[in-house]
Amino acid sequence: MSDPSLTQDIECDLLVIGSGAGGLSTAITAAKHGLDVVVIEKEAHFGGTTAYSGGVLWIPGHSKNPPGVASDHRDTALRYMKDQTGAFYDEAAIGAFLDVAPEMVDWFERETEVRFVPTLYPDYHPDAPGGVQVGRSILAAAYDASRLGKDMHRLRPPLKTITFIGMMFNSSNADLKHFFNVTKSATSAWYVGKRLASHFIDLLRYRRGVQVTSGNALAARLAKSCFDLNIPIHTGACARELLCQGDTVTGARVQIGQREVRIAARRGVVLACGGYPHDPQRTRQAYPHLQRGGEHLSPTPEGNTGDGLKLAGSVGGQVDMRFEGVGAAAWMPVSRVPMANGTFGVFPHLLDRYKPGIIGVLRNGKRFTNESNSYHDVGAAMIAACADLPETAMWLVCDAATIRKYGLGYAKPAPLPLGGLIRKGYLLKGRTLEELATRAGIDPTGLMATVSEYNQGATQGEDRQFGRGTTAFNRYLADPSHTPNPCVAPLGKGPYYAVKLVMGDLGTFDGIRTTVAGQVLDGQGAVVRGLYAVGNDRASIMGGNYPGAGITLGPNMTFGYITGRFIAGAPVHEPASRKGSQTEATHAI
Ligand SMILES: Cc1cc2nc3c(=O)[nH]c(=O)nc-3n(C[C@H](O)[C@H](O)[C@H](O)COP(=O)(O)OP(=O)(O)OC[C@H]3O[C@@H](n4cnc5c(N)ncnc54)[C@H](O)[C@@H]3O)c2cc1C
Repeated sequence: MSDPSLTQDIECDLLVIGSGAGGLSTAITAAKHGLDVVVIEKEAHFGGTTAYSGGVLWIPGHSKNPPGVASDHRDTALRYMKDQTGAFYDEAAIGAFLDVAPEMVDWFERETEVRFVPTLYPDYHPDAPGGVQVGRSILAAAYDASRLGKDMHRLRPPLKTITFIGMMFNSSNADLKHFFNVTKSATSAWYVGKRLASHFIDLLRYRRGVQVTSGNALAARLAKSCFDLNIPIHTGACARELLCQGDTVTGARVQIGQREVRIAARRGVVLACGGYPHDPQRTRQAYPHLQRGGEHLSPTPEGNTGDGLKLAGSVGGQVDMRFEGVGAAAWMPVSRVPMANGTFGVFPHLLDRYKPGIIGVLRNGKRFTNESNSYHDVGAAMIAACADLPETAMWLVCDAATIRKYGLGYAKPAPLPLGGLIRKGYLLKGRTLEELATRAGIDPTGLMATVSEYNQGATQGEDRQFGRGTTAFNRYLADPSHTPNPCVAPLGKGPYYAVKLVMGDLGTFDGIRTTVAGQVLDGQGAVVRGLYAVGNDRASIMGGNYPGAGITLGPNMTFGYITGRFIAGAPVHEPASRKGSQTEATHAI
């Protein structure tokens, strides 16, 4: 579906290519500072990976902490960033992020439709120097997408595999708890009934769920803010080539269906195409498991084919591949879900690995890591553990009582049936561990030995091999009602179940080399005039690590804000009188 409104060559101040959080935050900031901005999006829907995401932003020092949660100090956050980024520590970029991120949040809340709520997420490495047990991650507030009017149908729907008949879960644990307790508590049954009824009414009325949460809410809020500022988001419009006058980028050639238009941009072009998770050449170069001939399934939208990196390269911009290997992307172990009409969906294992009684093993039947670590850490451990194997894969295994209580991957807890997923081969079942292992192609002796050894400690709530449940982050998404260790329970009576996981990602970390302000640099470190990069097109400041929930969207929106202000010629910081602070810091970029 292409946008019928873009039929001829146009001119603007700033052209933004890509409609995720990186692009839209830049567009909004620049427009608010007086520029005439146009956004183009190659897909029929706007929102990119951002609309699929959890909508969490990592913002050290934000002002939204709930009562009782201590406010963060810049020095503590800086210590954490130094520890987490190691050899890749970039003082200027990290300094700018820490200085500007809290102001960015306040600015968007004051000036636009974007709102956030605090979360209780611990950092992913809370015990590292400068790590905190709670407080640095905030979440996009839920939104009524019908406020977008007819544009609501151009908002990328949420990732199908993590909705329930198209209904989004609220990212709060309370919401999910009601769904888990639906057969055990009248209050939960009433709550779930009400949620489902209102979702069905929305489906009848709007042909989609409109009570959106998480990243869908963030994308909807950013898009509404664009439309309020008369920033068009042209969907079905793919940037094919950058236009230059001399050595300055001045616009782009854009394909819309069968026709082409030229968009001239007086102040420059911003690349915000969301990195390269679907570029087969570059991922093969960067991902170790692909080099070994293994499988990779990305839940990111298929339009993220690395166009921004290619466009930058076409005018001399430097693409750094510094994190190749275990830091190349934000890893996410995923499973392949057979859907109707022979297609498949990608299910990111965001919740089950934390739950007591679910363990992860390799083909040899052995556990290899603390399953309740972050998706990125489990992914990196999986890549390392399978280094000598042609396939990078693990199996999550549990008993009958556990799968009925928590579900396993795409298989939902009771009372929802499991039979369909067993018949389709997604869910593997065995009356005994040996039968399950044989069915899954796992070494039966290895699996039985692993469960026997694990169960010895697990009956006392201990994971003697990998220390599951020893960090605040391990415990955060576990089961607080399970004692003494919310992450650890023995595997009991059969039948037993397993799901196969392969490697996926939430986005790539390597990208275009830029100044702090987002100006694209060439191989000699000189600025490519008129060209900027934001979001995952720009190299991550996290050094290939994943320090906490929201470490892509937090920097993406912060640097979008910085780049938007820079292009519009605004000072890096809001004047003190506007943001109500005592001092006006300055930051050279
Ligand atoms: C399931 C899931 C959960 C996640 N949860 C979180 C989270 O809670 N917190 C967090 O920080 N990160 C999270 N992430 C990662 C995060 O969503 C991404 O890092 C982020 O959204 C990338 O933003 P972006 O603006 O760079 O790109 P995107 O949001 O992907 O937007 C890029 C857009 O550019 C468009 N485009 C590409 N090429 C062209 C072209 N040639 N012309 C025009 N348009 C083009 C694409 O179609 C796309 O719409 C999650 C990811 C997934 C998959």
